[in-house]
Amino acid sequence: MTAPLWFDLLERLAAVLDEELRRAGASAGLNASQVAVLRYLSKANQYSNTPSAVAAYFGLTKGTVSQTLLALTRGGWLRRSPDARDRRVVRLALTRRGEALIRRLAGRIAAVGVPEDLAPHLERLLRNWQQARGGLSFGLCRSCRYFLTLEEDRFQCGLTGERLLMPQPLKICREHAPAA
Ligand code: SF4
Repeated sequence: MTAPLWFDLLERLAAVLDEELRRAGASAGLNASQVAVLRYLSKANQYSNTPSAVAAYFGLTKGTVSQTLLALTRGGWLRRSPDARDRRVVRLALTRRGEALIRRLAGRIAAVGVPEDLAPHLERLLRNWQQARGGLSFGLCRSCRYFLTLEEDRFQCGLTGERLLMPQPLKICREHAPAA
């Protein structure tokens, strides 16, 4: 039995995306995995910017991820700081240099023409796959079943009880639970 056409197309797309990340990092001396980690951290919310969340997102061991994070920190792409409440927890954030690289990459991605209704289809496919395998969804905060809109521009996380200020509702979260 052969794989369906959609699987072949996704496989090819994955190769194209990997090449795009490799190109984005080439002039800066970064590999595709390092650029992917920077991209993840540019989208991650305040519950998801830790080394263990990076490992969970990419399905890698903490040891593998720590090497990548070390290289990115030494290169001036990432900043590590202790959590304000629990100093044992390390928080990761892009430096200006890291942000600039991700902005340039976003500009290149935006130049690619895609059908408007592509994202919902891909999201459904991803959710189906994750449900079948039991993985974390890492979805957009505002699509989470715990996301609460208190007023027009006041939001709260129903899981932690914390207020969510912009742009947190537009970021991805390791605690995300897809709406039923
Ligand atoms: S509402 Fe959901 S996605 Fe948003 S911060 Fe809370 S748990 Fe995370």
